[in-house]
Amino acid sequence: MRQFPVEKYRNIGIIAHIDAGKTTFTERVLFYTGISHKIGEVHEGEAIMDWMEQERERGITITAAATTCFWRPTADGESKERECKINLIDTPGHIDFTAEVQRSLRVLDGAIVVFDGVAGVEAQSETVWHQADKFKVPRVCFINKLDRMGASFEHSLKTIWERLTPNAVAVQMPIGQEGNFSGVIDLITMKAVKFEGEHGEKVRVEEIPDNMKEAAEEWRKKMLEKVAAEDHELLEHYLEGKAIEIEQIRRAIRKGVIDYQVIPVFCGSALKNKGVQLALDAVVYYFPSPIDAPPIRGRDPKTEEIIDRKPDDDESFSALAFKVATDPFVGALTYFRIYSGKLAPGTTLFNSANGKKIRIGRIVRMHANHREEVEELYAGDIAAAIGLKEVETGHTICDPDNPIILEKIIFPEPVISIRIEPKTKADQEKLGLALKKLAEEDPTFKIKTDEETAETIISGMGELHLEILVDRMKKEFKMEANVGRPQVAYKETILETAEAEGKYIRQSGGRGQYGHTWVRVSPRKAGEGFLFVDEIKGGIIPKEYIPAVRKGIEEAMDRGVIAGYPMVDIEAALYDGSFHEVDSSEAAFKIAGSMAFQAAAKSAKPRLLEPIMRLEVSIPEEFFGDIIGDLNARRGRIKESFDRALLKVIEAFVPLAEMFGYATSLRSITHGRGASTMEFSHYEQVPHNITQGIIEART
Ligand code: GDP
Repeated sequence: MRQFPVEKYRNIGIIAHIDAGKTTFTERVLFYTGISHKIGEVHEGEAIMDWMEQERERGITITAAATTCFWRPTADGESKERECKINLIDTPGHIDFTAEVQRSLRVLDGAIVVFDGVAGVEAQSETVWHQADKFKVPRVCFINKLDRMGASFEHSLKTIWERLTPNAVAVQMPIGQEGNFSGVIDLITMKAVKFEGEHGEKVRVEEIPDNMKEAAEEWRKKMLEKVAAEDHELLEHYLEGKAIEIEQIRRAIRKGVIDYQVIPVFCGSALKNKGVQLALDAVVYYFPSPIDAPPIRGRDPKTEEIIDRKPDDDESFSALAFKVATDPFVGALTYFRIYSGKLAPGTTLFNSANGKKIRIGRIVRMHANHREEVEELYAGDIAAAIGLKEVETGHTICDPDNPIILEKIIFPEPVISIRIEPKTKADQEKLGLALKKLAEEDPTFKIKTDEETAETIISGMGELHLEILVDRMKKEFKMEANVGRPQVAYKETILETAEAEGKYIRQSGGRGQYGHTWVRVSPRKAGEGFLFVDEIKGGIIPKEYIPAVRKGIEEAMDRGVIAGYPMVDIEAALYDGSFHEVDSSEAAFKIAGSMAFQAAAKSAKPRLLEPIMRLEVSIPEEFFGDIIGDLNARRGRIKESFDRALLKVIEAFVPLAEMFGYATSLRSITHGRGASTMEFSHYEQVPHNITQGIIEART
């Protein structure tokens, strides 16, 4: 029996730029909801959500754990009917973990975006904001750290308007700032709210201080103007100057949040225990439940027909695996969100991504530091299954009788790689196992074997990403390995259309070899990938040889024609050729296809492509000239520069090849006073003068 109605579920996440206070905020949430009984300070490495060792050491969050808690809004006198079940899905703060952020956003119905009240909007806030736009995640903002020197609610709000969205609306204003920050004014109830007790757990509602009444009225007016557009009745009352009910405003904000038209802005200080409870109230009031979102869309794996599934317990079962983690105690944990139907241990399900049947053993609900075994789960639930085999991130698990494939999560290709060499034979075996496990968990982590040297090459999204993965191999799998220097994952493509012949004919007594093809190659747009077109008419090449030609072309693409890097964004059309009754074979056509493709690609202006990163550097003004000079020397292109709090911020595009060890060099130029973040942006042609060096390095 379902105990909690689905309309009282809130599946949410907290997203932020690193250091904005996400961990501290999450800790307070777990404390106020009664999940934890102690406030662990982040710097002491006790944060509950960060339970992995590396995370603790580095103080950043890598794994997305999902935690369940319950909350009743404070402002309503904690009425029981209002109680919601909140599934809190942790998202990583570091940009190298794009896959982690994306997969969690995919299953969220709402996100609290935490900002540093001194810096306002920062680089990663922008990145995650745009990702949240892509996944259509409703949001509220929380301007944190208002107790800090230099904090400004108004300035931070302005940066949100300028850099993220004009739809942000202040629904609170701070009482005092910096050292005097003592609480907030709720512009909806028009009350002052203070937080008392050792950890701010006592919420006290008071009248607004006289000296702030006027300002509060002004802010409230601005808020009403914005949110009234969401509700006909509210608009009427507002325009006619009639009394406005609190519930009316909340209803309008809720509608606006769900339609992305209103982004309410809250404020406080997580560290000083102020304001977090009201943001939790907002989760209850404004975020959609699973049934407020449109039905989830998927396809029938056989017929490709579009299917919509409602978040209803009586619908056929469907769920999306959004994270695979290795738990030190129970082994493989597959986190999933149920979109429709219900589930009990012992059920047999179908993985529609790989066509395999799976049996569900134990299911657990995670509470970050402990797990609770559950007997039944329902539409809207988020939980983890223990010991599932061959279920990867992004796979759909569903009812075998009514299969569905939910929309896949598309991850970026890795841009950086390193060679890894096990120290002993025993390490060699462990390496294989470790790599397989880690790749299952992280879709942006790829493994390849160099055909010539038989060495293992691993690739990922950035230096830190690979560093942490190597670290995990050493610690969790207890293996020793030497790692090479990081290498850029170049690619190759063509700029023009060209055609060429490929003939593989051998006559050597007995049965010969005969494959003959004409292939035309033409460029496709960036990101469009490879397309093979079969233009053979009248059986001049028999049907059974055509897949072999395609295979030959794909293998040639993988080897490249300039410096051995894989080729992308090319259309290859097989349009002519011939065959021999006796001598033709798949093998001969494969070679002929590969030869034709290579010849055509070589005359189609092949070019080398390199990953370009989006870099943001913030520094004290005195280093501005030095940093710009350094970026120019690294072939950087400055996009813009502006002031943020007391710092100068530079945004630039830079080739990844020039950026190894940048963090160290920045530290030395600025004597430790600069900070930078970098993420993959796109691929671009390598300038001519540099191409030669890359070719030479490969040969
Ligand atoms: P995360 O990287 O976003 O998870 O940020 P953390 O929660 O780890 O916080 C980064 C640093 O900011 C830590 O030293 C926190 O103690 C501090 N911090 C977090 N919230 C506040 C706040 O409200 N006020 C102040 N002054 N410091 C804060």
